[in-house]
This record gives sequence, structure tokens and C-alpha cells, in this order.
Amino acid sequence: MLDLAIVGATVVTPSGVAPADVGVIAEKIVNIAPPGALESARRTIDACGMLLIPGAVDPHTHLDAEMFSMHAIDDFKSGTAAAVAGGVTTIVDYAFQAHGGSLADAIEKWSAKARARALIDYGFHVALLDPSPEAIAEIPRVVERGVTSFKIFMMQGFEARARDFMRAFRVAGDSGALLAIHAEDEHLIGFCTERLLAADKHDVTHFAASRPPLSEAAAVRRALAMTELSGTPAYFVHLSSREAVDEIRRARSRGRVVLAETRPIYLYLTEERFLEPNGAKYVGYPPLRSAEHRDALWAALEDGTVDVVATDHCSWTLERKISANRFTRMPPGMSNLETLVPMLYSEGVAKGRLSISRWVDLTATNAAKIFGMYPRKGAIVEGAAADLVVFDPACRVVINSREMHSRSDYDPFEGFEVTGWPKMTISRGRPIVTDRKVDAPAGRGEFIARERFSPRWRNQ
Ligand SMILES: [Zn+2]
Repeated sequence: MLDLAIVGATVVTPSGVAPADVGVIAEKIVNIAPPGALESARRTIDACGMLLIPGAVDPHTHLDAEMFSMHAIDDFKSGTAAAVAGGVTTIVDYAFQAHGGSLADAIEKWSAKARARALIDYGFHVALLDPSPEAIAEIPRVVERGVTSFKIFMMQGFEARARDFMRAFRVAGDSGALLAIHAEDEHLIGFCTERLLAADKHDVTHFAASRPPLSEAAAVRRALAMTELSGTPAYFVHLSSREAVDEIRRARSRGRVVLAETRPIYLYLTEERFLEPNGAKYVGYPPLRSAEHRDALWAALEDGTVDVVATDHCSWTLERKISANRFTRMPPGMSNLETLVPMLYSEGVAKGRLSISRWVDLTATNAAKIFGMYPRKGAIVEGAAADLVVFDPACRVVINSREMHSRSDYDPFEGFEVTGWPKMTISRGRPIVTDRKVDAPAGRGEFIARERFSPRWRNQ
């Protein structure tokens, strides 16, 4: 006897897109059967006309993050509510090392934020801010605990300690960890920013010019050299420009294991948004770019150069975003978790740019493989966690921040018309979202100890 059966849907599995019925016992998928062939179940969900996809895996979130001496508005409760309402069932959040602090303390601090609040499963990366000898020595133990990726930010305080960072990369690579890189060159940005401020060009309309595409591409090139010499696999977060994805292609053609992520805002918005009355609400690092870069990113999604679309969800109230009058003081980031999956369906699949399988790879399967969670997460296969989304490809939704689960009071995609939305989200065998209503106790999410990075992730 099954606990749950989802019948009648078109199911997206690693072997293709086809009608099937899916059976669940306790928290796992136990059977993927031809239509009508499942044994009986305590509860049956009729999913005729729907797609059944694996719950999405977002490997780039900042819940309860502290920035500019402020806390982002979404904690692990509201943030994971937004996630699961949008079909995301696993997140990997960044635990920030304090300056002079240990990596273990960072993980402990983030565990305390997540433990009693998360509605869905979560893992952590450590954001390495201070590559002290003590912190470097801790890296193998951190990896052993299932925190198998580290992040570095090249845009602040990086260059002065580049050699220490390389020592950390080396140990991370030797330990089987993956290095996530925020690639923006601090000196190029510093120079551009200085010139703008000296000319009194400090409002948000000048923000994009302060961090040009070249500053991203130069940092990608430098990080590629550093990680090649240190022997560390590199994953570039939120790439935003044509020049940056060109660097990724060139590195791959030379045989490098290098992975690339982009972020929804660069796919759907362009820099003209900064000219709107409250343009500061779109501030993120790197900035929105021109249409040429947006089109290059779509091409990179289509040809496989970009592996993952992740949110970088870091949300603020509109008041917080617009209160600073200098672009250097506007807190970066915005709400994205609830719209990640449906918007990529609407703009990618419904408009004929991406196949259904590619959409699922970009939002679930690839991140699960790259970040050591496959096949537990990120795919509909027997034995995997029953993290499933019944997705209605015909449902039309106009994005309205008042209907979203983030505590942010605006949405960067306000007013966008979207075709396709999750009808139901199931997390470890339990339906916890139906028709956009979230019903799950805080704290039910579990920590995921992740496997080490495998350079053969594509063939898993
Ligand atoms: Zn981020």
C-alpha cells in the first residue's frame, strides 16, 4: 500500500518527459509506473493536464543575512515559505564567516537561524571572508560535515589577501570541495565608482556604470587563473554579462572544469529599470545590464554554457532599498524565490526557448548534482526524496507582491504576466502547498549533509 500516488501527469524524469504515475511511501519515491499500473494508495492526487517535476533546488539564497548592519527581511521561515510556494524544495544558503571567526561558528550560527524555522530541507556553503591559517586548517573538517562548498567575494578586501585565499582554495580543492566565486574586480569597480562620485553622480541612475561588464569578465579571468594554479573546481555565481559567459566557454574549450550560474533578474530585466522613480529597488551586485547581455545569457542557457539558474534571494523592504541616496549604500539583492520556477517556464519553455527537460535541469537537477545532493534531490527517480511539484502549465498569474510569501513589500517582477504556476508542492512526501496556500510547521526542514564535488557530475 502506497502512502501517496500522483496519477495522470506528464512526468519529467532524467530519461525524458512522458505520462506516468508516481508512488510514494513515507518520504520517498518508490515507483514510477506506466499510467494506471500503480498499486493502491491511501491518498491519490489526480494530476491530469499537469506536469510533475522534481522540486527545485536553489543553491544561492541569503535568508536572515546581515548586510550594511541590517538584517534581510526574509528569515528561514518566510524565505522557505516563498520558496516552497514557488516549487523550490531545497535551498543551499550562505553561512558567513565573521572576520577573525571560525568556520565552525559560522555554520553553528546559520544552523541556529534555520533549525526552528525552515519549512524545507537546506544545506550551507561557507562564505570565506578571512582566510586565516586557522580557518584554512578547518576546511577539511567542514567538508567532512557535509558543507562541501565555499564562497569568495572578489569585490571587497580580496586583492590584499589574494595569496591567502589561494592557499584556502588549494585546501578546499584537495578536500573535494567546490569553490563558488562572486566575480567582480574590486579595483576596476573602485576606480569607476570613485570617478562617478567625484562628478557627483551618486544616484541609482549611475549604478550600472560603477560596475561595468569588463569588471566581471576581468574577475572571471583572474579567478580562472587562481583556481587553475590551486587545483580547485570553480563555480561562478550570478554571471550577468556576455564577456563573462565568453570566458566560461573559452575555459571549457581548454578542458577546465568550470561551472556557471545566472540569476533571474539578468534574464528578465535590463538597466533601464534604474531610471524608474524607485529604481533603487533593482540594485543587486552585479547590476542589471543592457539587452545585449540579457540576450547573451539566454543564448548561454540554451547552449549549455550556463548550468544553473539560482535566485540570490536577499530581500528588503522598498523603504530600505530607496532610503539611501548614494548607490554605494543601497543594500543589494531582492526577493526571487517564489518566481524562479514559474518565470523560467513562462519566459523559457512557453516561449519556445528552452525544452521542458532543460528547464528542470537548470532549476533542479544540475544544482543537485553540482552540490552533492543527487539523486536524493533534484530528480524524479526511484529512491529519491519525494520532493515533487504538480505544475499547471496553463495557469496564468500576474505577479503581485501582496500575494507572495516573502516579507518584502515589492517584487522586482511586479505586473509580469506568467503562464504556468505550481498547483501543489510536496516536500519529503508531504503536500505542503496547494493552490498557493502554504501549510507546514516551521522547523520541519532538515539539514542536508552534502557529498563532495564530482568533476564527472554531468554523467551522474
Ligand atoms: Zn549572493
